[in-house]
Amino acid sequence: MRISMILALALVAAGTPALGAQSQKETFGKLADGTPVEAATLSNAHGMKVRVLAWGAILQELTVPGKDGPADVVLGYDSMDGYLKAPNYFGATVGRYANRIAKGQFTLDGKAYKLAVNDGPNALHGGLKGFDKRLWTIASLALNADSASVTMTYTSKDGEEGYPGTMQVSATFTLTESDELQVVYRATSDKPTIANITNHSYFNLAGQASGISATEAVLTMPAESYTPVDTTLIPTGEIRPVKGTPFDFRMPHRIADRLRDGHDEQLRIGRGYDHNWVFGKAPGESVRTVAKVEDLRSGRAMEILTNQPGLQFYSGNFLDGTVSGKGGIIYRQGDGICFEPQVFPDTPNKPQFGSARLDPGQAYENRIVYRFSVLR
Ligand code: BGC
Repeated sequence: MRISMILALALVAAGTPALGAQSQKETFGKLADGTPVEAATLSNAHGMKVRVLAWGAILQELTVPGKDGPADVVLGYDSMDGYLKAPNYFGATVGRYANRIAKGQFTLDGKAYKLAVNDGPNALHGGLKGFDKRLWTIASLALNADSASVTMTYTSKDGEEGYPGTMQVSATFTLTESDELQVVYRATSDKPTIANITNHSYFNLAGQASGISATEAVLTMPAESYTPVDTTLIPTGEIRPVKGTPFDFRMPHRIADRLRDGHDEQLRIGRGYDHNWVFGKAPGESVRTVAKVEDLRSGRAMEILTNQPGLQFYSGNFLDGTVSGKGGIIYRQGDGICFEPQVFPDTPNKPQFGSARLDPGQAYENRIVYRFSVLR
């Protein structure tokens, strides 16, 4: 990719030039009206590389070492064209409300709000023009002794996509020398509103261009229960134990092993996994491990930690081979899998799921850590 503008390039780790944390800003492409889209690139001494676009605060590249060398482990596109024509939420920051709200309706303080309906009868991932389809501002690039980070900001206006309150949102991506990509989403609002902001990366630890299904990976999720859904993928309200079902990942399982279990109605409804696993009732103070994904062939392992109470695990069921991504690779069903830390889908209509409310003076925070290692 052409680097047309390097605004900041710095090296740390004295004595090891070009090996320590680095960050730089470049132009990635243009919107249809010619507006340039900038990107920030972070790298570390172990060969990890992260690129985040100001369009949608999209994680466009995540290169990670493996037994036989590095590979890019997230699906996406080489240029803006793909992100504008068939976004698919590849790598995107989704909000103001990630996942579904039934019929695009909710009530706050007795007032009914109507959101854009963009997924059958429901609202999905913030509406027709959610945070993933907005131009963010690269507010800062920072270098510390053991990490590099970028912060992007976006102001979501009162009434945008039907949500009340002007919301100030920030997304900070930090790449550490201990091979963690940390993502922190923060938001405040000037009126009571709802918030659920997450990252929608499709991972394939074998490499996005490997041609190996991401469902070959071995998954562990220490959750006792999950939220079953109706045929429109809205949770029924039930919190169902995973025990004795294909949803039990408390012990490691190859994802593909039970993915085609037609006896399970929930797998049939989702066309695979497309459900929220339950880790708590409300966002916590600190992060804890909610998933571990291991690709035994390449040796790449990823642990996901978050402070959020839920984790949507989506096995890429709707990828249908109609789009070709980075390097011209066609993405087919299961070629990428998503792990989306969140409050439960449709929480604004299901008080038993907790609350997605954000009041003025409060700070919303979703903290996510993707921790990488190589299995030996
Ligand atoms: C949802 C899927 C949806 C996908 C869109 C996931 O978060 O759970 O149902 O198709 O996003 O990319």
